[in-house]
Amino acid sequence: MHDYVIVGAGSAGCVLAARLSEDPSVSVCLIEAGSADESEDIHIPARFGENFRTHYDWDYDTHEEPFLDRRRVYLPRGRVLGGTSSINAMLYLRSNQVDYDGWRQPGWSYRELLPYFRRSEDNERGASEYHGVGGPLAVSDGRSRNPMAAAFVAAAQQAGHPYNDDFNGPAQDGFGFFQVTQRDGRRCSTADAFLHPAMSRPNLTVELDFQVHRVLVEHGRATGVIGRRHGEEVTIRAGREVVLCAGAYNSPQLLMLSGIGPADHLSDLGIPVVVDQPQVGRNLQDHPLIPVIFTHSQPVSLLIAEEPESLRQYQEEGRGPLTSNGPECGGFVRTRAGLPAPDVAFFTGPLMFADSGLSIPTAHAITYGPLVLAPQSRGSVTLLSANPTTKPKIEHRYFSEPADMETAVAGLRIGLDIARQRAMDPYTETFHEPPASESDADLRTYVRRYTHSIFHGSGTCAMGTVVDSELRVMGVEGLRVADVSVMPTVGRGAPNASAIMIGERAADLVRDGRAPALAHAQAVRSGS
Ligand SMILES: Cc1cc2nc3c(=O)[nH]c(=O)nc-3n(C[C@H](O)[C@H](O)[C@H](O)COP(=O)(O)OP(=O)(O)OC[C@H]3O[C@@H](n4cnc5c(N)ncnc54)[C@H](O)[C@@H]3O)c2cc1C
Repeated sequence: MHDYVIVGAGSAGCVLAARLSEDPSVSVCLIEAGSADESEDIHIPARFGENFRTHYDWDYDTHEEPFLDRRRVYLPRGRVLGGTSSINAMLYLRSNQVDYDGWRQPGWSYRELLPYFRRSEDNERGASEYHGVGGPLAVSDGRSRNPMAAAFVAAAQQAGHPYNDDFNGPAQDGFGFFQVTQRDGRRCSTADAFLHPAMSRPNLTVELDFQVHRVLVEHGRATGVIGRRHGEEVTIRAGREVVLCAGAYNSPQLLMLSGIGPADHLSDLGIPVVVDQPQVGRNLQDHPLIPVIFTHSQPVSLLIAEEPESLRQYQEEGRGPLTSNGPECGGFVRTRAGLPAPDVAFFTGPLMFADSGLSIPTAHAITYGPLVLAPQSRGSVTLLSANPTTKPKIEHRYFSEPADMETAVAGLRIGLDIARQRAMDPYTETFHEPPASESDADLRTYVRRYTHSIFHGSGTCAMGTVVDSELRVMGVEGLRVADVSVMPTVGRGAPNASAIMIGERAADLVRDGRAPALAHAQAVRSGS
Protein backbone atom coordinates (compact mmCIF):
# COMPACT_ATOMS: atom_id res chain seq x y z
CA MET A 1 0.00 0.00 0.00
CA HIS A 2 1.31 3.46 -0.96
CA ASP A 3 -0.15 6.81 0.01
CA TYR A 4 -0.18 8.07 -3.57
CA VAL A 5 -0.29 6.11 -6.79
CA ILE A 6 0.58 8.14 -9.88
CA VAL A 7 -0.13 6.67 -13.31
CA GLY A 8 2.29 7.87 -16.00
CA ALA A 9 5.91 9.07 -15.65
CA GLY A 10 5.54 11.76 -18.30
CA SER A 11 5.94 15.52 -18.31
CA ALA A 12 3.55 16.09 -15.41
CA GLY A 13 3.86 12.71 -13.65
CA CYS A 14 7.63 12.95 -13.07
CA VAL A 15 7.21 16.42 -11.55
CA LEU A 16 4.39 15.30 -9.30
CA ALA A 17 6.19 12.16 -8.10
CA ALA A 18 9.39 14.07 -7.38
CA ARG A 19 7.65 16.87 -5.52
CA LEU A 20 5.39 14.61 -3.41
CA SER A 21 8.28 12.35 -2.43
CA GLU A 22 10.23 15.34 -1.07
CA ASP A 23 8.22 14.63 2.09
CA PRO A 24 9.83 11.50 3.58
CA SER A 25 6.70 10.73 5.61
CA VAL A 26 4.62 9.83 2.53
CA SER A 27 5.09 6.94 0.13
CA VAL A 28 4.65 7.44 -3.59
CA CYS A 29 4.37 4.86 -6.35
CA LEU A 30 4.88 6.08 -9.92
CA ILE A 31 3.74 3.62 -12.58
CA GLU A 32 4.97 3.82 -16.18
CA ALA A 33 3.89 1.63 -19.08
CA GLY A 34 7.15 2.23 -20.92
CA SER A 35 10.74 1.47 -20.07
CA ALA A 36 13.83 3.34 -18.90
CA ASP A 37 15.06 6.30 -20.97
CA GLU A 38 18.43 4.83 -21.84
CA SER A 39 18.68 5.35 -25.59
CA GLU A 40 20.95 8.10 -26.92
CA ASP A 41 18.20 8.82 -29.46
CA ILE A 42 16.30 10.30 -26.52
CA HIS A 43 19.13 12.41 -25.15
CA ILE A 44 20.71 13.74 -28.36
CA PRO A 45 18.32 16.51 -29.36
CA ALA A 46 18.45 16.29 -33.16
CA ARG A 47 17.55 12.61 -33.03
CA PHE A 48 14.10 13.08 -31.52
CA GLY A 49 12.37 11.81 -34.67
CA GLU A 50 14.30 8.54 -34.42
CA ASN A 51 11.95 7.58 -31.60
CA PHE A 52 8.85 7.78 -33.79
CA ARG A 53 7.10 4.44 -34.22
CA THR A 54 9.58 2.65 -31.94
CA HIS A 55 8.76 0.99 -28.61
CA TYR A 56 9.23 4.43 -27.01
CA ASP A 57 6.11 5.64 -28.83
CA TRP A 58 2.43 4.79 -28.26
CA ASP A 59 2.23 5.29 -32.03
CA TYR A 60 -1.27 6.68 -32.33
CA ASP A 61 -3.03 7.95 -35.43
CA THR A 62 -6.26 9.84 -35.69
CA HIS A 63 -9.25 8.18 -37.22
CA GLU A 64 -9.92 9.31 -40.80
CA GLU A 65 -10.06 13.09 -40.49
CA PRO A 66 -13.26 14.25 -42.24
CA PHE A 67 -11.92 17.73 -43.12
CA LEU A 68 -8.43 16.57 -44.19
CA ASP A 69 -9.35 14.43 -47.20
CA ARG A 70 -10.05 11.53 -44.80
CA ARG A 71 -6.35 11.18 -44.03
CA ARG A 72 -5.21 9.62 -40.76
CA VAL A 73 -2.83 11.93 -38.92
CA TYR A 74 0.13 10.52 -36.98
CA LEU A 75 0.23 11.31 -33.24
CA PRO A 76 3.44 10.19 -31.49
CA ARG A 77 3.34 9.99 -27.66
CA GLY A 78 6.23 9.06 -25.40
CA ARG A 79 6.02 5.64 -23.75
CA VAL A 80 9.15 5.82 -21.63
CA LEU A 81 10.39 7.54 -18.49
CA GLY A 82 9.81 11.23 -19.12
CA GLY A 83 6.84 10.42 -21.36
CA THR A 84 6.45 12.80 -24.25
CA SER A 85 9.07 15.14 -22.77
CA SER A 86 11.56 12.41 -23.73
CA ILE A 87 10.65 12.50 -27.42
CA ASN A 88 9.45 16.06 -27.98
CA ALA A 89 11.09 18.99 -29.73
CA MET A 90 12.13 20.66 -26.45
CA LEU A 91 10.56 24.09 -27.07
CA TYR A 92 10.02 25.85 -23.78
CA LEU A 93 6.95 27.90 -24.61
CA ARG A 94 4.30 28.80 -22.11
CA SER A 95 0.85 29.71 -23.35
CA ASN A 96 -0.16 33.33 -23.73
CA GLN A 97 -1.25 35.04 -20.54
CA VAL A 98 -4.78 35.44 -21.92
CA ASP A 99 -5.11 31.66 -22.19
CA TYR A 100 -4.61 30.95 -18.50
CA ASP A 101 -6.81 33.88 -17.54
CA GLY A 102 -9.40 32.67 -20.04
CA TRP A 103 -9.71 29.31 -18.27
CA ARG A 104 -11.53 31.18 -15.49
CA GLN A 105 -10.56 28.59 -12.90
CA PRO A 106 -9.80 29.72 -9.33
CA GLY A 107 -6.05 29.65 -8.75
CA TRP A 108 -5.14 29.26 -12.44
CA SER A 109 -4.76 32.85 -13.62
CA TYR A 110 -1.43 33.71 -15.22
CA ARG A 111 -0.31 35.78 -12.23
CA GLU A 112 -1.08 32.90 -9.87
CA LEU A 113 0.69 30.37 -12.13
CA LEU A 114 3.86 32.36 -12.76
CA PRO A 115 5.43 31.25 -9.43
CA TYR A 116 4.99 27.62 -10.49
CA PHE A 117 6.71 28.19 -13.83
CA ARG A 118 9.54 29.97 -12.06
CA ARG A 119 9.82 27.31 -9.37
CA SER A 120 10.63 24.62 -11.96
CA GLU A 121 13.05 26.67 -13.96
CA ASP A 122 16.81 26.92 -14.11
CA ASN A 123 17.02 29.44 -16.91
CA GLU A 124 20.55 30.06 -18.18
CA ARG A 125 19.65 33.69 -18.86
CA GLY A 126 19.22 34.22 -15.12
CA ALA A 127 16.33 35.18 -12.88
CA SER A 128 13.83 37.87 -13.77
CA GLU A 129 10.20 38.68 -13.19
CA TYR A 130 9.33 35.96 -15.71
CA HIS A 131 12.05 33.38 -15.14
CA GLY A 132 13.53 31.35 -12.34
CA VAL A 133 16.94 29.91 -11.58
CA GLY A 134 17.93 27.01 -9.37
CA GLY A 135 14.92 24.83 -10.24
CA PRO A 136 15.34 21.32 -11.65
CA LEU A 137 14.38 22.13 -15.27
CA ALA A 138 17.17 23.43 -17.49
CA VAL A 139 15.91 26.08 -19.91
CA SER A 140 18.56 27.24 -22.34
CA ASP A 141 19.17 29.11 -25.53
CA GLY A 142 19.59 26.70 -28.43
CA ARG A 143 23.19 25.82 -29.26
CA SER A 144 22.74 24.91 -32.90
CA ARG A 145 21.93 28.33 -34.34
CA ASN A 146 21.53 27.02 -37.84
CA PRO A 147 22.08 29.73 -40.49
CA MET A 148 18.62 29.02 -41.87
CA ALA A 149 17.09 29.88 -38.52
CA ALA A 150 18.90 33.22 -38.49
CA ALA A 151 17.81 33.83 -42.09
CA PHE A 152 14.19 33.08 -41.27
CA VAL A 153 14.13 35.47 -38.31
CA ALA A 154 15.82 38.15 -40.44
CA ALA A 155 13.31 37.58 -43.26
CA ALA A 156 10.39 37.93 -40.85
CA GLN A 157 11.79 41.30 -39.81
CA GLN A 158 12.25 42.30 -43.45
CA ALA A 159 8.56 41.44 -43.88
CA GLY A 160 7.74 43.93 -41.13
CA HIS A 161 7.35 41.70 -38.08
CA PRO A 162 9.01 42.71 -34.82
CA TYR A 163 11.84 40.78 -33.17
CA ASN A 164 11.02 39.02 -29.91
CA ASP A 165 13.80 38.05 -27.55
CA ASP A 166 11.64 36.09 -25.11
CA PHE A 167 8.34 34.44 -26.01
CA ASN A 168 7.77 33.70 -22.31
CA GLY A 169 8.24 37.34 -21.37
CA PRO A 170 5.84 40.26 -21.34
CA ALA A 171 4.66 39.85 -24.96
CA GLN A 172 4.43 36.91 -27.32
CA ASP A 173 4.14 38.70 -30.69
CA GLY A 174 7.12 38.75 -33.02
CA PHE A 175 9.84 36.46 -34.33
CA GLY A 176 12.98 35.09 -32.72
CA PHE A 177 14.76 32.04 -31.35
CA PHE A 178 13.09 29.59 -28.97
CA GLN A 179 14.48 28.61 -25.62
CA VAL A 180 14.71 24.86 -25.14
CA THR A 181 14.64 22.31 -22.33
CA GLN A 182 18.27 21.31 -22.67
CA ARG A 183 21.31 21.25 -20.43
CA ASP A 184 24.77 21.45 -22.02
CA GLY A 185 23.29 20.60 -25.41
CA ARG A 186 21.44 17.49 -24.20
CA ARG A 187 17.71 17.00 -23.71
CA CYS A 188 16.40 17.83 -20.27
CA SER A 189 13.19 15.78 -20.00
CA THR A 190 11.17 15.78 -16.80
CA ALA A 191 12.75 12.40 -16.06
CA ASP A 192 16.19 14.02 -16.32
CA ALA A 193 15.19 17.11 -14.39
CA PHE A 194 12.88 15.81 -11.68
CA LEU A 195 12.71 12.03 -11.49
CA HIS A 196 16.26 10.70 -11.77
CA PRO A 197 17.54 12.92 -8.94
CA ALA A 198 14.68 11.59 -6.75
CA MET A 199 14.93 7.90 -7.69
CA SER A 200 17.06 6.89 -4.71
CA ARG A 201 14.50 8.11 -2.17
CA PRO A 202 13.23 5.16 -0.11
CA ASN A 203 9.68 6.53 -0.18
CA LEU A 204 9.50 6.58 -4.01
CA THR A 205 8.79 3.40 -5.96
CA VAL A 206 8.97 3.54 -9.75
CA GLU A 207 7.31 0.68 -11.63
CA LEU A 208 8.39 0.29 -15.27
CA ASP A 209 6.82 -1.76 -18.06
CA PHE A 210 3.54 -1.70 -16.11
CA GLN A 211 0.47 -0.72 -18.09
CA VAL A 212 -2.42 0.32 -15.86
CA HIS A 213 -5.72 -1.05 -17.14
CA ARG A 214 -8.14 0.63 -14.80
CA VAL A 215 -8.60 2.48 -11.54
CA LEU A 216 -10.17 0.49 -8.73
CA VAL A 217 -13.19 2.39 -7.43
CA GLU A 218 -14.81 1.03 -4.26
CA HIS A 219 -17.80 2.69 -2.60
CA GLY A 220 -17.25 5.83 -4.65
CA ARG A 221 -13.55 6.11 -3.81
CA ALA A 222 -10.43 5.33 -5.85
CA THR A 223 -8.45 2.78 -3.85
CA GLY A 224 -5.78 1.70 -6.31
CA VAL A 225 -5.08 0.54 -9.85
CA ILE A 226 -4.99 -2.76 -11.70
CA GLY A 227 -2.72 -3.45 -14.63
CA ARG A 228 -0.20 -5.78 -16.18
CA ARG A 229 3.51 -5.98 -15.49
CA HIS A 230 5.46 -8.45 -17.60
CA GLY A 231 2.31 -10.40 -18.44
CA GLU A 232 1.17 -10.69 -14.84
CA GLU A 233 -1.92 -8.95 -13.41
CA VAL A 234 -0.95 -6.69 -10.52
CA THR A 235 -2.99 -4.51 -8.14
CA ILE A 236 -1.39 -1.56 -6.40
CA ARG A 237 -3.34 0.06 -3.59
CA ALA A 238 -3.43 3.76 -2.75
CA GLY A 239 -4.14 4.82 0.83
CA ARG A 240 -4.80 8.43 -0.05
CA GLU A 241 -5.11 9.17 -3.75
CA VAL A 242 -4.70 7.94 -7.29
CA VAL A 243 -3.54 10.58 -9.77
CA LEU A 244 -3.74 9.98 -13.51
CA CYS A 245 -0.91 11.62 -15.46
CA ALA A 246 -1.27 9.44 -18.54
CA GLY A 247 -1.69 12.27 -21.08
CA ALA A 248 -4.44 13.63 -23.29
CA TYR A 249 -5.27 10.34 -25.00
CA ASN A 250 -4.63 7.83 -22.22
CA SER A 251 -6.05 9.61 -19.17
CA PRO A 252 -9.59 9.76 -20.63
CA GLN A 253 -9.13 6.20 -21.90
CA LEU A 254 -8.28 5.06 -18.36
CA LEU A 255 -11.24 6.92 -16.87
CA MET A 256 -13.58 5.26 -19.34
CA LEU A 257 -12.05 1.81 -18.74
CA SER A 258 -12.74 2.48 -15.04
CA GLY A 259 -16.41 3.22 -15.68
CA ILE A 260 -16.12 7.01 -15.59
CA GLY A 261 -17.39 8.46 -18.85
CA PRO A 262 -20.44 8.72 -21.11
CA ALA A 263 -22.83 6.05 -19.75
CA ASP A 264 -24.27 5.03 -23.13
CA HIS A 265 -20.80 4.63 -24.67
CA LEU A 266 -19.57 2.54 -21.72
CA SER A 267 -22.72 0.41 -21.67
CA ASP A 268 -22.37 -0.32 -25.38
CA LEU A 269 -18.96 -1.83 -24.60
CA GLY A 270 -20.15 -3.72 -21.51
CA ILE A 271 -18.19 -1.57 -19.07
CA PRO A 272 -20.06 -1.11 -15.73
CA VAL A 273 -20.85 2.58 -15.26
CA VAL A 274 -19.42 4.11 -12.08
CA VAL A 275 -20.09 7.77 -12.96
CA ASP A 276 -22.00 8.98 -16.00
CA GLN A 277 -19.68 11.77 -17.16
CA PRO A 278 -20.42 12.69 -20.80
CA GLN A 279 -17.49 15.12 -21.05
CA VAL A 280 -14.70 12.58 -20.52
CA GLY A 281 -12.75 12.42 -23.77
CA ARG A 282 -14.52 15.43 -25.27
CA ASN A 283 -13.01 18.88 -25.93
CA LEU A 284 -9.92 17.39 -27.62
CA GLN A 285 -7.73 20.15 -29.11
CA ASP A 286 -4.45 20.40 -30.95
CA HIS A 287 -2.44 22.80 -33.06
CA PRO A 288 -2.66 21.76 -36.71
CA LEU A 289 0.48 22.74 -38.64
CA ILE A 290 0.56 23.41 -42.36
CA PRO A 291 4.11 22.68 -43.51
CA VAL A 292 5.85 24.90 -46.03
CA ILE A 293 9.03 23.22 -47.28
CA PHE A 294 11.71 24.72 -49.48
CA THR A 295 14.61 22.60 -50.71
CA HIS A 296 17.96 24.08 -51.76
CA SER A 297 21.60 23.28 -52.43
CA GLN A 298 23.20 24.85 -49.32
CA PRO A 299 24.78 22.03 -47.27
CA VAL A 300 23.58 23.33 -43.92
CA SER A 301 20.45 21.39 -43.00
CA LEU A 302 20.28 18.63 -40.41
CA LEU A 303 21.29 16.21 -43.15
CA ILE A 304 24.80 17.01 -41.92
CA ALA A 305 23.97 16.26 -38.28
CA GLU A 306 25.49 12.77 -38.26
CA GLU A 307 28.65 13.67 -40.21
CA PRO A 308 31.98 13.14 -38.39
CA GLU A 309 32.59 16.85 -37.82
CA SER A 310 29.11 17.27 -36.29
CA LEU A 311 29.69 14.28 -34.02
CA ARG A 312 33.04 15.68 -32.93
CA GLN A 313 31.50 19.06 -32.23
CA TYR A 314 28.76 17.46 -30.18
CA GLN A 315 31.06 15.21 -28.17
CA GLU A 316 33.81 17.75 -27.54
CA GLU A 317 31.88 21.01 -27.29
CA GLY A 318 28.24 20.08 -26.71
CA ARG A 319 27.36 22.22 -29.71
CA GLY A 320 26.54 21.94 -33.39
CA PRO A 321 23.73 20.43 -35.46
CA LEU A 322 23.17 17.46 -33.14
CA THR A 323 22.01 19.88 -30.46
CA SER A 324 19.30 21.18 -32.77
CA ASN A 325 15.83 20.68 -31.37
CA GLY A 326 14.32 20.96 -34.87
CA PRO A 327 12.18 24.09 -34.61
CA GLU A 328 14.98 26.40 -33.51
CA CYS A 329 13.12 29.61 -34.23
CA GLY A 330 9.72 30.95 -35.16
CA GLY A 331 7.21 33.58 -34.30
CA PHE A 332 3.74 34.60 -33.24
CA VAL A 333 1.45 36.79 -35.32
CA ARG A 334 -2.10 38.10 -35.39
CA THR A 335 -3.71 37.51 -38.75
CA ARG A 336 -6.19 40.33 -38.24
CA ALA A 337 -6.76 43.38 -36.12
CA GLY A 338 -8.75 43.22 -32.92
CA LEU A 339 -7.49 39.87 -31.65
CA PRO A 340 -6.51 39.69 -27.95
CA ALA A 341 -3.37 37.67 -28.77
CA PRO A 342 -1.62 35.94 -31.69
CA ASP A 343 -3.72 33.37 -33.55
CA VAL A 344 -0.92 31.87 -35.67
CA ALA A 345 2.57 30.68 -34.80
CA PHE A 346 5.47 29.62 -36.98
CA PHE A 347 7.79 26.80 -35.94
CA THR A 348 10.82 26.75 -38.22
CA GLY A 349 13.28 23.89 -38.53
CA PRO A 350 16.45 23.46 -40.62
CA LEU A 351 15.36 20.19 -42.19
CA MET A 352 12.80 18.60 -44.46
CA PHE A 353 10.01 17.67 -42.03
CA ALA A 354 7.49 16.01 -44.35
CA ASP A 355 4.74 13.49 -43.66
CA SER A 356 4.62 14.29 -39.90
CA GLY A 357 8.38 13.75 -39.72
CA LEU A 358 8.02 10.12 -40.81
CA SER A 359 9.64 10.54 -44.26
CA ILE A 360 13.40 10.43 -44.46
CA PRO A 361 14.65 13.84 -45.69
CA THR A 362 15.85 13.64 -49.28
CA ALA A 363 17.37 17.12 -49.66
CA HIS A 364 18.67 20.10 -47.74
CA ALA A 365 15.57 22.06 -46.80
CA ILE A 366 13.85 24.45 -44.43
CA THR A 367 10.39 23.66 -43.05
CA TYR A 368 8.13 26.06 -41.20
CA GLY A 369 4.54 26.51 -39.88
CA PRO A 370 2.02 28.18 -39.74
CA LEU A 371 0.06 26.50 -37.01
CA VAL A 372 -3.42 27.47 -35.85
CA LEU A 373 -2.84 28.63 -32.29
CA ALA A 374 -6.31 29.07 -30.82
CA PRO A 375 -8.35 26.51 -32.75
CA GLN A 376 -12.10 26.40 -32.41
CA SER A 377 -12.41 22.83 -33.71
CA ARG A 378 -12.93 20.13 -31.10
CA GLY A 379 -12.42 16.38 -31.31
CA SER A 380 -12.81 13.41 -29.01
CA VAL A 381 -11.22 10.31 -27.55
CA THR A 382 -13.49 7.29 -27.22
CA LEU A 383 -12.98 3.56 -26.73
CA LEU A 384 -13.04 1.06 -29.54
CA SER A 385 -13.23 -1.84 -27.13
CA ALA A 386 -13.26 -2.69 -23.44
CA ASN A 387 -9.83 -4.25 -23.94
CA PRO A 388 -7.36 -1.84 -22.23
CA THR A 389 -4.61 -2.62 -24.72
CA THR A 390 -6.69 -1.58 -27.73
CA LYS A 391 -5.68 1.89 -28.92
CA PRO A 392 -8.35 4.52 -28.28
CA LYS A 393 -10.29 6.05 -31.15
CA ILE A 394 -8.95 9.57 -31.67
CA GLU A 395 -10.84 12.04 -33.84
CA HIS A 396 -9.32 15.50 -33.85
CA ARG A 397 -11.76 16.87 -36.41
CA TYR A 398 -9.17 19.46 -37.48
CA PHE A 399 -10.86 22.31 -39.39
CA SER A 400 -14.37 21.20 -38.52
CA GLU A 401 -14.83 24.87 -37.63
CA PRO A 402 -14.42 26.93 -40.83
CA ALA A 403 -12.81 29.79 -38.89
CA ASP A 404 -9.75 27.59 -38.34
CA MET A 405 -9.36 27.16 -42.11
CA GLU A 406 -9.54 30.94 -42.59
CA THR A 407 -6.81 31.38 -39.98
CA ALA A 408 -4.67 28.71 -41.65
CA VAL A 409 -4.98 30.35 -45.06
CA ALA A 410 -4.15 33.77 -43.61
CA GLY A 411 -1.14 32.22 -41.86
CA LEU A 412 0.02 30.57 -45.07
CA ARG A 413 -0.05 33.92 -46.84
CA ILE A 414 2.13 35.42 -44.10
CA GLY A 415 4.49 32.47 -44.43
CA LEU A 416 4.75 32.83 -48.20
CA ASP A 417 5.44 36.52 -47.78
CA ILE A 418 8.36 35.72 -45.46
CA ALA A 419 9.70 33.26 -48.05
CA ARG A 420 9.90 36.10 -50.60
CA GLN A 421 12.18 38.25 -48.41
CA ARG A 422 15.83 38.79 -49.32
CA ALA A 423 17.26 36.95 -46.32
CA MET A 424 15.56 33.75 -47.43
CA ASP A 425 16.97 33.86 -50.97
CA PRO A 426 19.65 31.18 -50.45
CA TYR A 427 17.14 28.73 -49.00
CA THR A 428 14.06 29.00 -51.21
CA GLU A 429 15.34 27.51 -54.48
CA THR A 430 12.48 24.99 -54.85
CA PHE A 431 9.07 25.00 -53.20
CA HIS A 432 8.53 21.34 -52.30
CA GLU A 433 5.02 20.30 -53.43
CA PRO A 434 3.65 23.86 -53.71
CA PRO A 435 0.00 24.85 -53.90
CA ALA A 436 -1.41 25.09 -57.44
CA SER A 437 -1.73 28.86 -56.96
CA GLU A 438 -2.15 31.31 -54.15
CA SER A 439 -5.90 31.59 -54.58
CA ASP A 440 -7.97 30.94 -51.45
CA ALA A 441 -9.34 27.76 -52.99
CA ASP A 442 -5.90 26.35 -53.80
CA LEU A 443 -4.51 27.28 -50.40
CA ARG A 444 -7.43 25.48 -48.75
CA THR A 445 -6.72 22.41 -50.87
CA TYR A 446 -3.08 22.63 -49.78
CA VAL A 447 -4.13 22.85 -46.11
CA ARG A 448 -6.33 19.76 -46.44
CA ARG A 449 -3.60 17.79 -48.21
CA TYR A 450 -0.58 18.54 -46.05
CA THR A 451 -1.70 19.57 -42.55
CA HIS A 452 -0.25 17.43 -39.80
CA SER A 453 -0.34 17.58 -36.05
CA ILE A 454 2.34 19.42 -34.15
CA PHE A 455 1.48 16.96 -31.38
CA HIS A 456 -0.15 19.21 -28.79
CA GLY A 457 -3.28 17.13 -28.04
CA SER A 458 -4.96 18.28 -24.82
CA GLY A 459 -8.25 19.16 -23.12
CA THR A 460 -9.96 15.76 -22.76
CA CYS A 461 -10.51 15.83 -18.97
CA ALA A 462 -10.94 19.57 -18.74
CA MET A 463 -11.13 21.61 -15.60
CA GLY A 464 -14.67 22.78 -15.02
CA THR A 465 -16.27 19.77 -16.70
CA VAL A 466 -14.44 16.53 -15.79
CA VAL A 467 -12.19 17.72 -12.97
CA ASP A 468 -12.66 20.67 -10.64
CA SER A 469 -10.14 23.46 -10.24
CA GLU A 470 -8.23 21.27 -7.75
CA LEU A 471 -8.00 18.58 -10.44
CA ARG A 472 -10.34 16.19 -8.58
CA VAL A 473 -12.46 13.96 -10.80
CA MET A 474 -16.01 15.02 -10.11
CA GLY A 475 -18.14 12.23 -8.68
CA VAL A 476 -15.28 10.07 -7.34
CA GLU A 477 -13.30 10.52 -4.12
CA GLY A 478 -9.52 10.17 -4.04
CA LEU A 479 -8.98 10.51 -7.79
CA ARG A 480 -7.35 13.35 -9.73
CA VAL A 481 -6.06 13.95 -13.21
CA ALA A 482 -2.90 16.04 -13.62
CA ASP A 483 -1.60 16.36 -17.18
CA VAL A 484 -2.42 18.33 -20.33
CA SER A 485 -5.86 16.76 -20.52
CA VAL A 486 -7.06 19.11 -17.74
CA MET A 487 -6.35 22.25 -19.78
CA PRO A 488 -9.69 23.71 -20.92
CA THR A 489 -7.93 25.09 -24.02
CA VAL A 490 -4.69 24.01 -25.68
CA GLY A 491 -3.33 27.53 -25.33
CA ARG A 492 -1.16 29.66 -27.57
CA GLY A 493 2.17 28.04 -26.85
CA ALA A 494 3.47 24.51 -26.63
CA PRO A 495 2.13 22.32 -23.83
CA ASN A 496 5.23 20.88 -22.17
CA ALA A 497 5.87 23.96 -20.03
CA SER A 498 2.20 23.94 -19.00
CA ALA A 499 2.32 20.20 -18.23
CA ILE A 500 5.28 20.81 -15.92
CA MET A 501 3.44 23.69 -14.27
CA ILE A 502 0.40 21.41 -13.82
CA GLY A 503 2.64 18.81 -12.14
CA GLU A 504 4.00 21.47 -9.79
CA ARG A 505 0.59 22.81 -8.92
CA ALA A 506 -0.92 19.33 -8.54
CA ALA A 507 1.78 18.57 -5.98
CA ASP A 508 0.66 21.54 -3.89
CA LEU A 509 -3.00 20.66 -4.31
CA VAL A 510 -2.41 17.05 -3.25
CA ARG A 511 -0.02 17.97 -0.43
CA ASP A 512 -2.01 20.69 1.14
CA GLY A 513 -5.52 19.77 0.21
CA ARG A 514 -5.75 23.14 -1.43
CA ALA A 515 -3.16 25.25 -3.22
CA PRO A 516 -1.71 28.06 -1.18
CA ALA A 517 -0.90 29.94 -4.35
CA LEU A 518 -0.19 33.20 -2.62
CA ALA A 519 2.04 31.60 0.01
CA HIS A 520 4.12 30.06 -2.76
CA ALA A 521 4.29 33.28 -4.67
CA GLN A 522 5.68 34.90 -1.56
CA ALA A 523 8.11 32.04 -0.94
CA VAL A 524 9.44 32.28 -4.48
CA ARG A 525 9.85 36.03 -4.19
CA SER A 526 11.78 35.71 -0.95
CA GLY A 527 13.90 32.94 -2.47
CA SER A 528 12.99 30.34 0.16
C1 LIG B 1 7.19 14.76 -31.40
C2 LIG B 1 6.65 15.73 -30.39
C3 LIG B 1 7.20 16.98 -30.29
C4 LIG B 1 6.71 17.87 -29.34
N1 LIG B 1 7.37 19.04 -29.17
C5 LIG B 1 7.02 19.83 -28.14
C6 LIG B 1 7.81 20.97 -27.83
O1 LIG B 1 8.83 21.23 -28.47
N2 LIG B 1 7.42 21.74 -26.78
C7 LIG B 1 6.30 21.47 -26.06
O2 LIG B 1 5.98 22.23 -25.15
N3 LIG B 1 5.55 20.39 -26.33
C8 LIG B 1 5.90 19.55 -27.32
N4 LIG B 1 5.20 18.41 -27.54
C9 LIG B 1 4.04 18.14 -26.69
C10 LIG B 1 4.41 17.87 -25.23
O3 LIG B 1 5.63 17.18 -25.12
C11 LIG B 1 3.27 17.11 -24.54
O4 LIG B 1 2.08 17.86 -24.66
C12 LIG B 1 3.54 16.87 -23.07
O5 LIG B 1 4.75 16.18 -22.90
C13 LIG B 1 2.40 16.08 -22.45
O6 LIG B 1 2.65 15.87 -21.10
P1 LIG B 1 1.70 14.93 -20.24
O7 LIG B 1 2.28 14.88 -18.87
O8 LIG B 1 0.30 15.37 -20.39
O9 LIG B 1 1.76 13.49 -20.94
P2 LIG B 1 2.98 12.57 -21.33
O10 LIG B 1 4.28 13.29 -21.21
O11 LIG B 1 2.65 11.97 -22.64
O12 LIG B 1 3.00 11.45 -20.21
C14 LIG B 1 2.09 10.40 -20.11
C15 LIG B 1 2.83 9.20 -19.53
O13 LIG B 1 1.89 8.24 -19.09
C16 LIG B 1 2.30 6.97 -19.51
N5 LIG B 1 1.09 6.14 -19.62
C17 LIG B 1 0.06 6.36 -20.45
N6 LIG B 1 -0.89 5.43 -20.26
C18 LIG B 1 -0.43 4.62 -19.27
C19 LIG B 1 -0.97 3.48 -18.63
N7 LIG B 1 -2.15 2.98 -18.97
N8 LIG B 1 -0.24 2.87 -17.66
C20 LIG B 1 0.97 3.37 -17.30
N9 LIG B 1 1.52 4.46 -17.88
C21 LIG B 1 0.82 5.07 -18.85
C22 LIG B 1 2.98 7.24 -20.84
O14 LIG B 1 3.79 6.17 -21.26
C23 LIG B 1 3.72 8.52 -20.55
O15 LIG B 1 4.99 8.27 -19.99
C24 LIG B 1 5.62 17.51 -28.50
C25 LIG B 1 5.05 16.26 -28.62
C26 LIG B 1 5.56 15.35 -29.55
C27 LIG B 1 4.94 13.99 -29.65
